[in-house]
Amino acid sequence: MINRKRSNEQGRNAGKKREKTGLTTKIFIALIGGMILGSILHSFVPSSYWKDTVLTGGIFYVVGQGFIRLMQMLVVPLVFCSIVCGSAAIGDTKTLGKVGVKILAFYLVTTAMAISVALTLGTIVKPGLQLDLSKVTTAASNTSVQQSTSMTDTLLNIIPTNPIQALANGEMLQIILFAVIVGIILAKLGEKTEVVFNFFSGFNDIMMEMTGMVMHLAPYGVFCLVAKTFSELGFSAFGSMAKYMLCVAGALAIHCFGVYSGLFAAFTRLNPFRFIRKYLPVMGFAFSTATSNATIPLAIETLEEKIGVSRKISSFTIPLGATINMDGTAIMQGVAVCFAAQAYGISLGPAEYLTVIATATLASIGTAGVPGVGLITLSMVFNSIGLPVEAIGIIMGIDRILDMARTAVNITGDAMCTTIVASMETDSFQKDVFVGK
Ligand code: ASP
Repeated sequence: MINRKRSNEQGRNAGKKREKTGLTTKIFIALIGGMILGSILHSFVPSSYWKDTVLTGGIFYVVGQGFIRLMQMLVVPLVFCSIVCGSAAIGDTKTLGKVGVKILAFYLVTTAMAISVALTLGTIVKPGLQLDLSKVTTAASNTSVQQSTSMTDTLLNIIPTNPIQALANGEMLQIILFAVIVGIILAKLGEKTEVVFNFFSGFNDIMMEMTGMVMHLAPYGVFCLVAKTFSELGFSAFGSMAKYMLCVAGALAIHCFGVYSGLFAAFTRLNPFRFIRKYLPVMGFAFSTATSNATIPLAIETLEEKIGVSRKISSFTIPLGATINMDGTAIMQGVAVCFAAQAYGISLGPAEYLTVIATATLASIGTAGVPGVGLITLSMVFNSIGLPVEAIGIIMGIDRILDMARTAVNITGDAMCTTIVASMETDSFQKDVFVGK
């Protein structure tokens, strides 16, 4: 066990060596620069070979997607190794179970709160009132995935029949389960499996080092991703949907800066705005990539180095959160329900609201942390109360920007819940790192 602790310590020190001063600022300059350049290209530069093929479809696309792929390349090995090491370091199944139950409770309750905020705001602002959806062509919506897996199958699917296949396919919940079991057994067998533990621990350090290297490319990736999105969409497309978009944005802000910050302050007695300031680069990264999954390595690293959360907790809770805790997505779904109901003139009663809260919480568990999936699981929420799924067709057009914003909220929720739970455990949270610069 002593060796295990030392090995984990080495990993942490290796992580701390990476000095990233200035990277945050660079990412934000890239984000704003990308938005400005993209909007200028959209509004003032006419379509041409150079603009569409060379710049947007060429340079922006290749650099942006290349960066996302690099981040995705890190996810499976990093998640697997760090969960194995994390659960081996926690050691006893009791503590692991306690952390698991607490984090699940936080994830589920905060998601239900998120939808409630969205439904309340959607009912007050009424984003769909002026729209007549019967006039809208809705062919696109029919692509929504209709086949829903039953609850029992969803639960059974967490158990991988072939762990190697689960790793190859990036099946996050299956990977988490298998890695936790391997970690627990490593702790149980102790000295006998020291070699295996050291292998995973060393590999984990390699992955963290790789994360640091890839992150140096973040400003370029972020710039190209955002410039491409804005040059294609501009701001003009949003006209009639402005109220819907503002409503989603407002609910995201209330949930992130109100609900989450309140919970964070109440449970940790720490300043939530300090947390948000330190976590901003991760939020900026999630915003530009619109994928929670790709954000996992950076989230774990930032939580350790800037917030003071031990990797033995975050390596387990962050990948889990990126897979099942989607508060931002649930908010979009809550507002979308109000929007569609108002646009079709369907009135919703308490029973419908409760059904939406329950199904959107489940949909959040089933939403993968990749771009656009929230719209697909939205059809499940619409079906649960008999709303016409055709409405999803018009939401689709403006969803990309909202996807970016909700992904930032999704990953912030994971990190805040993780910090709250870590602060409740001994040896898992270093307050001096949090209050430091
Ligand atoms: N893009 C979101 C995420 O990765 C999921 C979604 O809402 O579509 O967290």
